[in-house]
Amino acid sequence: MLVDTHCHLDASEFDADREAVIARAQAAGVGCMVLPAVDRAGFARVRALCEGRPALRFALGIHPLFVPAACESDLDVLAMDLEQAGSEAMAVGEIGLDFFVTDIAPELQERWFVAQLELAKDAGLPVLLHVRRSQDRILKHLRAVFGRNGPGGIAHAFNGSRQQADEFIKLGFALGFGGAVTWQRALNLRRLVTELPLESIVLETDAPDIAAEFAAGKRNEPAHLPRIAQVIAGIRGIATEELIAATGANALRVLPRLASAYIE
Ligand code: ZN
Repeated sequence: MLVDTHCHLDASEFDADREAVIARAQAAGVGCMVLPAVDRAGFARVRALCEGRPALRFALGIHPLFVPAACESDLDVLAMDLEQAGSEAMAVGEIGLDFFVTDIAPELQERWFVAQLELAKDAGLPVLLHVRRSQDRILKHLRAVFGRNGPGGIAHAFNGSRQQADEFIKLGFALGFGGAVTWQRALNLRRLVTELPLESIVLETDAPDIAAEFAAGKRNEPAHLPRIAQVIAGIRGIATEELIAATGANALRVLPRLASAYIE
């Protein structure tokens, strides 16, 4: 099954035509979409969007770029909402570290990241990671909080080295790839997605962001996922169906609670 493991369908970019976007995705064969919240206001939004729709699943977390606007009580709300959501919550995310931006103190980002890793640990939930110029630092925190036997999850929009990828894989993570690999000039990323074990790859759009080359300059949406799968299968030299089956199974392995989306 085609699983978009990371799309922000609650984003305001979709306010005008959200239902049509979801319908297009499903018509294109996307069987499941995971919606990570990025801030406290988003918790209720993603939960409401997923209500009564087994194909839509949510995760709750505070994104590193939203940390400056967050207040301490948001962590308590996150803990409470995770508990209340029970098995409906797929993961803690989107959380992570973004050292590409320079105006958010690393210490502040790290404090929120570690606190949310602790929540994931308490809840026994995997994590959806935003990793930008912060691979090694994130790996260090994952090891410190979870040791070698953590719940794993997904390093989304992965763009690190093969060696860093291997370290995430050792910790039980899959690596998320989307529109970025469709760009002809993304040589390193295309090599990485070709060389990684198939078991370590999951698909995502990160809609509305990270447009694919075939839809350059346009708003990204989950309906683009089949073409992204085609491109990745093409550069790996395997059938698209094989890539879709493998990445779907991988998504279920790293986000075990997704399984109910298939059963319902
Ligand atoms: Zn995201």
